[in-house]
Amino acid sequence: MEKRCVMCGKLFVPDKFHPNQKCCSYRCYHKKYHRELRDKVINKLGGKCVMCGYTGPALQIDHINNNGYEERKKLYNNPIWNYCGSGTYYYKLYKKILSSDINGDYQLLCANCNVEKEMRRRGLIK
Ligand SMILES: [Zn+2]
Ligand SMILES: [Zn+2]
Repeated sequence: MEKRCVMCGKLFVPDKFHPNQKCCSYRCYHKKYHRELRDKVINKLGGKCVMCGYTGPALQIDHINNNGYEERKKLYNNPIWNYCGSGTYYYKLYKKILSSDINGDYQLLCANCNVEKEMRRRGLIK
């Protein structure tokens, strides 16, 4: 029996070992999982940009103390994760945010406010 992939809409035949499969491929499954994880993180962080109240898809997770680079280095340089390729950092970050008390380390900013924050940090605007 054919089913429709919940991510890309393609028809596919679930293999007999995974009859409840909702996605056509591992790729789509991964995307769906990633999106669900991201939605949970965004909910936990309040669901909107802390500067302007924006609630759309351009929300980004911001490190309040501007230590994103350091943290990325730390998470990526862990040899266990090194070979996992792109996306892994976000996966770890999402898990970390969801599983711990984040204590005001992260906030949501929309793409616009994020750029403005960065420009302000570099002293390009006031
Ligand atoms: Zn698909
Ligand atoms: Zn904003």
